[in-house]
Amino acid sequence: MKKLTYLTLTLFSVFSFAQEVSQDRIKTVLSTLASDEMKGREIGTPENDNAANYIAGLFKENNLGYCTGNSYLVPFNYQGKTVYNVCGIKKGKTDKYLGFSGHFDHIGTSNNPKDHIYNGADDDASGITTLAGIADYFKNKQPEFSMVFMAFNGEEKGMLGSRAISTDKNLDHIYNNMTALFNFEMVATESAFGKNALFMTGDEFSDLDELFNKNAVNGLKVNPDPYAAQQLFYRSDNVSFVKKKIIAHSFSTVDMTKATHYHHENDDVNIVDFANLTQIINNFGKTLDKLSPKNFAPKYNDTVKF
Ligand SMILES: [Zn+2]
Repeated sequence: MKKLTYLTLTLFSVFSFAQEVSQDRIKTVLSTLASDEMKGREIGTPENDNAANYIAGLFKENNLGYCTGNSYLVPFNYQGKTVYNVCGIKKGKTDKYLGFSGHFDHIGTSNNPKDHIYNGADDDASGITTLAGIADYFKNKQPEFSMVFMAFNGEEKGMLGSRAISTDKNLDHIYNNMTALFNFEMVATESAFGKNALFMTGDEFSDLDELFNKNAVNGLKVNPDPYAAQQLFYRSDNVSFVKKKIIAHSFSTVDMTKATHYHHENDDVNIVDFANLTQIINNFGKTLDKLSPKNFAPKYNDTVKF
């Protein structure tokens, strides 16, 4: 009897945690993107290309489909050079899409003799790690929603990548069916609301947060934007999609009153709360798994400016 109970418990835990993304995996992905070898991932550099290729590799591991053409790399022009956004799709049970995005570029290097690399662990290796983690979570599952994963380039130079890909006609088959876009921007640290919590920019413009929280598991919570006066909703990559009238918000944990690492050389892996980030990613995955076009159809109200 004892043996059976033990076996049952073991099977139960293997079953219920089979889809969990491990903290080691999260650490590997984020640390690779934020490594010194990536030299701050500035758009137009070979290291920026390397980051794009690394993300494409993560998409391949998850058997994602191409968004357009025969590559995850979606090219656009930057100062006469070909640079890339990275895009992959996962087919769900319905044709309605949820989008997950972040930006993989950062601001390169400086002349600081103590530390000359802007590693951008929080900004925004953490966001890319989150979308890659969500793809990991659904690797062996078929969600109700189809999913599109987009890693934007050139955010730091004025949201160039998100603007390019959002206006790419080859992706209209996705955009025309897009229910909402979750853009992750700086999610490496504990939020002002504590652990297992994020805030959503422009929360007053749609009911996405209410609908999400209604389904949220394990205490995960999306909070209102505490820095609304800074108009972050209109200052991040989500805005390229707002212009298309797609529900698109940015999600962050950054505590703006304490974030001394923002655009500094010390935005390094050692500031990342990996336990918290791993918990958020897994709880996000579990919550998304409950969403379907039937219970999740967020709408803008008339206060948003397109
Ligand atoms: Zn950023």
